[in-house]
Amino acid sequence: MVDSALANEAGARPEFIWRNGKLVPWPEAVVHVNAVGHASVPSVFEGIVAYWNTEHEQLYVFRLREHMQRLLDSLKIVRLGTGFSLDEMVQGVVDLLRANKTRQDTYIRPWAFVEGIVYELISPANAPTELVIDMWPFKSGLLTERGVRVGVSSWSRIDDNVLPPRAKAFSNYHNSRLAAIEATANGYDRTLLLNARGKLTEGPGSCVALVRQGTVITPSLSSGVLDSITRDTVLRLFPELLGIPVLDREVDRTELYVADELFYMGTGWEVLPILEVDRIQVGDGRMGPITRAIERAYHDAVRGVDERYREWLTPVWC
Ligand code: PMP
Repeated sequence: MVDSALANEAGARPEFIWRNGKLVPWPEAVVHVNAVGHASVPSVFEGIVAYWNTEHEQLYVFRLREHMQRLLDSLKIVRLGTGFSLDEMVQGVVDLLRANKTRQDTYIRPWAFVEGIVYELISPANAPTELVIDMWPFKSGLLTERGVRVGVSSWSRIDDNVLPPRAKAFSNYHNSRLAAIEATANGYDRTLLLNARGKLTEGPGSCVALVRQGTVITPSLSSGVLDSITRDTVLRLFPELLGIPVLDREVDRTELYVADELFYMGTGWEVLPILEVDRIQVGDGRMGPITRAIERAYHDAVRGVDERYREWLTPVWC
C-alpha cells in the first residue's frame, strides 16, 4: 500500500518497541533472517492513530480498544491466538507511547505473527505467536484541503471465501499492492476495487463512501471490505451530528460517476476527498460541503476537541 501518511518518511525510530509484554530498546528488537513468520502468510496487524491535543497537552489514542478487539478477531479468523488479554494489549500501547515520551501525532502498528524459524508457510492452527507494537510519527491530512484522483482497478478485491478482508492480514495487502501499483502506473493518485461481481468494495487501505442527493452511501460489510473503525465512526457522526442519513448497500461502478461527493475513510487516510474517478469529475471537482462537514466532525472527535466523543479516546498522559 503506497501512502505517505502511513510511511515513516523521516525514518524516525522510537527508543522502545513493545515485544511480548516487554519494552525492548529498538536495536535489540530483532529476529533471525529465517524467521519469516514475522511478516508472512498468517500474520495479522492493526493500524491505530494517536492524536496530540496541544491545548490539553494530551495524547489521545483513537478507539484503541476497538482496534485491539479487531486484532483479536483477525487472529481468530486465521486460527491463531495470543497469550495477551484485550486489557493487556491496550495497556501495551499506552506503556509504549509513555516509554517513548510521545507528544505528537503517532501511527501505531501492533502485529501478531508465528514465532521462531518458520519453514512451513501453511503454519498450523494455534501455532505460538509473538505480539509486537511499533510506532512512528504520523502526518495528519485533516483540514488541509486535499483531494485525490482515482481509477477503478482492473484487479478484483479479494472475497470472503478467498482471502477474507475482514481479517487484517498482511497477505491481503498483496491484492491492495497490485491495485495501488496499477493506479500509479496509470497516472492516478489512488484506486478503488470492485468485487468479483463488479460491485464497489473499498480502496487498498481505506473504505469509501459517496454522497447522492443528501444521503451518504457506503458498500455493506459483506461486499468484501475490512470492518473499518473509521467507517463505523463516520456512519455514526453523520446522523448524530449532521442530521445526514446513511445507507449501506451494494454500489455499482457507474454510481461513482454520478455521485455528488466521494471520499475515502480510514485510520491512515482519515477523511480523504476523491475529486475524480476514471477521469470523470466528481461534483464540481472540489471537496464538497458534506465531505467538509464530516472531515471537521471527524477531526474534532479524534483530537478530543468535541467532548461528546471522549469515550472513544484513551488519554496517554495522566
Ligand atoms: N480497508 C482496508 C483494506 C484497510 O487497510 C483499512 C485501514 N486499516 C481500512 C479499510 C480502514 O479501516 P480502519 O478505519 O479501521 O482503519
